[in-house]
Amino acid sequence: MKKYLFTEIPTQKIRGYQILLDIDGTLVADSEKNISKKTLEKIMLLSKHNNVYYCSNSKYLRDDLKKILSKNIQSLSLPAKKPRTECLSYLENTENQPLLVIGDKIFTDGLFAKNASAKFILTKRIVSKHDSFKIKLINLVDTILGPFISLLLIQKKIWFTI
Ligand SMILES: [Mg+2]
Repeated sequence: MKKYLFTEIPTQKIRGYQILLDIDGTLVADSEKNISKKTLEKIMLLSKHNNVYYCSNSKYLRDDLKKILSKNIQSLSLPAKKPRTECLSYLENTENQPLLVIGDKIFTDGLFAKNASAKFILTKRIVSKHDSFKIKLINLVDTILGPFISLLLIQKKIWFTI
């Protein structure tokens, strides 16, 4: 399965979805405050043909990042962390559009997609040397155990084919 950075994902086939977008590691590195112009442009491109929401497990999302994102897309509040799916009750999905999760972690985003009966795009993770030791450790565990979860996602046909 080829992995793309978020900004490199081909978008031609992504139409008519409710997109649940992860932030840390997907749009920015975990410790990063600023979102790049290229990333924002990609979000806007996806927004043309889909309803895009951002949803982060991080309790204290940096205010400046939140401000920029909120200008462009809606936020989805997470009463329980991913991979739990309580947040879906907050989703206004009147047209019953299919769900698509985009994120960098199989353990949270991939299993979230599976639990939500959504499709999933695993992105190449954006990391920074300023990431905390805890984050580096979580990333390492996800990288090592990810392939096993991948098999489950293949079996359940969760992967989105780009
Ligand atoms: Mg992430």
